[in-house]
Amino acid sequence: MRRLTFSSTSPKMDEEVLLKLETKSLEVLAEALDTLEAGFVDLPAFDSEPDLARLRTVLRDVAEKMRDNFPYFHPYYAGQMLKPPHPVARLAYMLALWINPNNHAFDGGRASSFMEKEAVAEIAKLFGWKTFLGHLTSGGTMANLEALWIAGQLKPGRKILASDQAHYTHQRISAVLGLRFESVPCDAKAKMDIDSLIQVLERGEVGTVVATAGTTGTGAVDPLPEILELRERYDFRLHVDAAYGGYFVLADNLEAGTRKAYDCLTQADSIVVDPHKHGLQPFGCGCVLYRDPTVGRFYRHDSPYTYFTSSELHLGEISLECSRAGASAVALWATQKMLPYLPGGEFARSLGKCRQAALILFERISGDPRFRMIFPPELDILVFASNGQKASEISARSERFFEAAAAENLHIAKFRYPAALLRGVWKDVDLDQPQVVCLRSCLMKPEHKDWADRLWEILDRTAGRIN
Ligand SMILES: *Cc1c(COP(=O)(O)O)cnc(C)c1O
Repeated sequence: MRRLTFSSTSPKMDEEVLLKLETKSLEVLAEALDTLEAGFVDLPAFDSEPDLARLRTVLRDVAEKMRDNFPYFHPYYAGQMLKPPHPVARLAYMLALWINPNNHAFDGGRASSFMEKEAVAEIAKLFGWKTFLGHLTSGGTMANLEALWIAGQLKPGRKILASDQAHYTHQRISAVLGLRFESVPCDAKAKMDIDSLIQVLERGEVGTVVATAGTTGTGAVDPLPEILELRERYDFRLHVDAAYGGYFVLADNLEAGTRKAYDCLTQADSIVVDPHKHGLQPFGCGCVLYRDPTVGRFYRHDSPYTYFTSSELHLGEISLECSRAGASAVALWATQKMLPYLPGGEFARSLGKCRQAALILFERISGDPRFRMIFPPELDILVFASNGQKASEISARSERFFEAAAAENLHIAKFRYPAALLRGVWKDVDLDQPQVVCLRSCLMKPEHKDWADRLWEILDRTAGRIN
């Protein structure tokens, strides 16, 4: 059995250094607020002093309540898709709240609307799009809803397809939009199975194929080159849900096949990317992009209340949501200034580190007979399980492992994986359940790479405890 040698700090030393939340940057916020204030000096003063004593009491209560959370900001949190916002995003968002702009229209948020247009153009540039239509949304669900709504307008009465590992939102959104939906089975690597896709396409009536670039469950990237070839033959619209994986287009350590798929994104008809997933943004920031800007015609509407202050296109005229946090755009814009989306740049390298973290842990776990792997991580999501001879035994052990790791302060997630996809992979396992409970870890923090040894140490200890 593989044994670990430690080069980094021992857990004991960790305990001696107490955790401190980063607050130094608040000084920078105070300075920036002075700058903001200077822009409004021609207004008469008005009294807005809060009751500091009450504020202190309430805020202390809030802080106490907020302790009831997993430590999402810490490298020991390696469970769901939660990544701490960059300090610049946090500060820019807060700074914007003194104005509280609404990016529905220039009437409610002028500077932040322009910042949104610039920030969205940076995301489009990731996929080589210079002319496009796009805007921020409150998240990936809303962004996908808009993309499928446009898809339905362009291919009325036709079906939407997505793999059975695609985000559940596509099926639900299709129902909301009154569009028919069919799910396409996956292959042993949790990617859309091309033969199955062809079978569904042959039956006809398909309007749109939703490919996922980085599934929420395993981080698998659907085979875009093959799907694009089929688009030539079957004339469907290709929407790529890259809510989670979109930014990995910048990573320089993808497998060749994955890189090829990412290079195809430029040929998609629409793409969704969530800056609040891997883009270092606070929640409330998704983005939808259309390669053909003329789809803006479907959004056309008039509003009796807004769109007065400028003849330039208001964001509300090209989005379904009305009020939207201008602060989200400000935070994203500021983050892009601090960490530009450049190949080889700091932002790109930090994505590469996340993937490296997943690869390091994959290597450790796959060399240990107490665990079972399915396939290597394609991005930075690692799926594994406690070992056993039967699916039911693997599920029960993985459940126990999840609890035991949490008791050690290591927070991973659980994932119900279809046994059908394991048939050719876990040949020696009696698949006595339709779904196997696996363990899932989103290694979304670049720090996870440097902490990989420490994470492994806990996994190792936990495995010893539950077996
Ligand atoms: C997270 C996610 C979504 C949903 O996005 P929200 O921002 O949570 O609404 C959709 N698709 C994929 C692939 C995702 O990872």
